[in-house]
Order: sequence, then structure tokens, then C-alpha cells
Amino acid sequence: MPLKAVIIVCDGMADRPVRELGYSTPLEAADTPAMDYLADIGVCGIMDPISPGIPPGSDVANLAILGYDALKVYRGRGVFEALGAGLEVRPGDVAVRCNFATVRNGVIVDRRAGRLDCRPFEEALMEVSKRIGPDVEAVFKHTTEHRAVLLLRGYGLSRMVSDSDPHRTGVPVMKVKPLDGTPEAGRTADILNGLSEMYMEALKNHPENERRRRQGLPTADAVIFRGAGQLPEIRSLEELYGVKSAVVAGNALARGVCVSAGMEPIHVEGATGSADTNLKGKAETALRALERFDLVYVHVKGTDNLSHDGNVEGKVRMIERIDRQLVSRILDETDLREVHIALTADHTTPVSVRKHTGDPVPIAVAGSCVRRDDVKRFSERSCAVGGMGRIRGRDVMPILMNYLGRVGLVGA
Ligand code: ZN
Ligand code: ZN
Repeated sequence: MPLKAVIIVCDGMADRPVRELGYSTPLEAADTPAMDYLADIGVCGIMDPISPGIPPGSDVANLAILGYDALKVYRGRGVFEALGAGLEVRPGDVAVRCNFATVRNGVIVDRRAGRLDCRPFEEALMEVSKRIGPDVEAVFKHTTEHRAVLLLRGYGLSRMVSDSDPHRTGVPVMKVKPLDGTPEAGRTADILNGLSEMYMEALKNHPENERRRRQGLPTADAVIFRGAGQLPEIRSLEELYGVKSAVVAGNALARGVCVSAGMEPIHVEGATGSADTNLKGKAETALRALERFDLVYVHVKGTDNLSHDGNVEGKVRMIERIDRQLVSRILDETDLREVHIALTADHTTPVSVRKHTGDPVPIAVAGSCVRRDDVKRFSERSCAVGGMGRIRGRDVMPILMNYLGRVGLVGA
């Protein structure tokens, strides 16, 4: 039987010393017997997602952990959101992230339209999108709350366009502008500006807005665009290593990055991409996926959300829940003679900073092929002295695939 691997990535789990925790990190303060066992029997190290000191976005960081030269192949975030939302994306397509926004007297007063569910608008905007023109196809899809994605398909499109989202309130919806001198960028900007106006018109007297007005709720008056992207030019993990792979992630962005690498997304009921996510369900799904796939990527978003909120206690508790409901469960139910298990974070999000920073993250890999080191705990500090030393995000996949015997010889 061929060897298999699971990689568990806890978004923004790595941290810095926290004063309230007696200058321990949340990982050090948390009670994590399963993670510590994994570190104890495995080989550990620290990993710079991109390179030392560079704070990465989650899209770039996850691309790197999948083994790609992330800064080189990255071509915008929108495309990952579209893939994560289940849309099929082809080379040449351009995808943007959308927010429904509340506009009063010509200026945006709420960039998230009260965070209310905007699904009731989807159908009307999908209909309007069909009218954009004969040479281009537009697909509008609601995702969660006030969020949606828009996919453009057609000849001569470019991701090199600015946002119509001003990223602040008190100003009008911005015009999309081409960011280079190509006709493609100009054309894409024109299409997006056209859709922006058509959407505004369609939203004006939409019954859902009438209802919101009657109930004094924030209306959705405009759709604002950001993060135009196109598919990264990468070869799939199957082409690179001959592995069949799957992703278990509640977060659309992480799921989309993995889908762009050819991984199959597996839905888990109750996997929300938040702190309340169904970790037991994710563990069960990952275990079942191992029967069909060689590599399973499990992504947990909640740790990053709590870090952005500066919620120290919440982060410690989330890490403990991941330990009990996910890591422990996967360790218990897998045969380490057949499966290698890697545990890491995609970047550091210190609760004290509430943003991604460029510190390295801990990583541990357990399985029959690894040379066990002396590290006994899974944390930023203890993993730093491990046998894997200090690696980059893009080293993770070759290291795992080498254990699986999937990396070809270099030289002769
Ligand atoms: Zn992240
Ligand atoms: Zn984040």
C-alpha cells in the first residue's frame, strides 16, 4: 500500500509572547496533549511561510505550503474566492470579490450592508449579469452574509484593474480603472463599471430592499469589487507528485487555493470557517478521505479570526479544541506506518498585533519515515530546536512527498 499524508494547517495559530499569559504564546499556554505527542514522536522545525520577516496573506501562504513559488505564481485573490465558492474557473477568466454595500446620498455608509444575508439578491443580479454583452459572460454568486463573487469569462480580459471598493466609508463607489496600458485591462474595467451601474439599478427597487426599508434595516444599494484575480499558472499536485489530493476547509479562500492546485474539495456539514466550526466533522471527513486520496489537507480558520479579534482566551481555547477534536482524533484513527501527519500554521497572527506578521511558525511531522528528534512539545519555542531546522513554506510539500517516495531524483 502506498504511503499517504495528512497536513493540518491552523490559520494564524503561531503567535508571540503574550503579557496576559505570563509571556507564553497561546500555543504554549494551551493544554495540547495530542499536538505534543505528535511533536514528541515526530520531527519538528520552524517554517518561514515565504521568507524570514515577510508577513504573508493566507492565499500566498497556503500556495507556498502546497509547494509553489507563491510570489511568482500569485495572480490575485478573487480567483481563489471563486474556486472556493464552487465556481469553475478557466485560464483567462477574471474573478473579483464583491461586497454588498449601503449607500446614502451618493456615499457608502456601510461596506457590508449590515452583514445581513444578501442571498435574496443573487437571482436578480445573476439575471442582470447576462445582459453585459455578447463577448463576455458574467456569473454572479452569493457566498456568505454580505459577500459574493463575480466571474468574467471571455476573450481579452485582465486582472490588472483597480477596486471599486474604496475600503472606507463616507466616499462614493469608485470607478474601476485599468492598472496597465493594455486593451485587456481597459476592457475589463469598462465591463466592471458597466456591471456596477446595472447592479445598482437592479438593487434600487428590489423587494428585499423594500422589506429592509420597512423594517429599518441597512439596505444593499451597491455591489463593490475588490481583488481581481486570474488562475495562478501552476501544475497540479497530481502532475508534480502523482498524488490524488483533497482539501477539507470551511474557509473559501483556503479551499480555493487548494482547488487551484487540483485538490478535490470535500464538504463538511457545519464547517463554518469560524471559531464555532465542526472540528469533529472535519476529523471524520479527513479520515474517510484518506481511504480515497493520497494527501488530505485540513485547514482550520478559527485561530486566525480570534487572533485578528485580539481574543487571547478564545485563541487558547480554540487551540485546545483543535487538539482534542481534530489532532487527537486523527492521531488515534490513523496507522502511522501508512500515514504521515504534518501539523503547522500558515503564518503568525499575534493577538497583540491583530495582523499577520513575518515570524516563523512551528511544524511537526510524524510517521514511519521521519527521524525523530528530541522535541517533546508543539510550540513556537520548542520546535525551533527540532531536527527539521528552519525551512520555507515551499519546502513543506517536497519534505512530505519525499517520505511518500514521490519525489524524483535530481542529477544522475
Ligand atoms: Zn492565514
Ligand atoms: Zn488572517
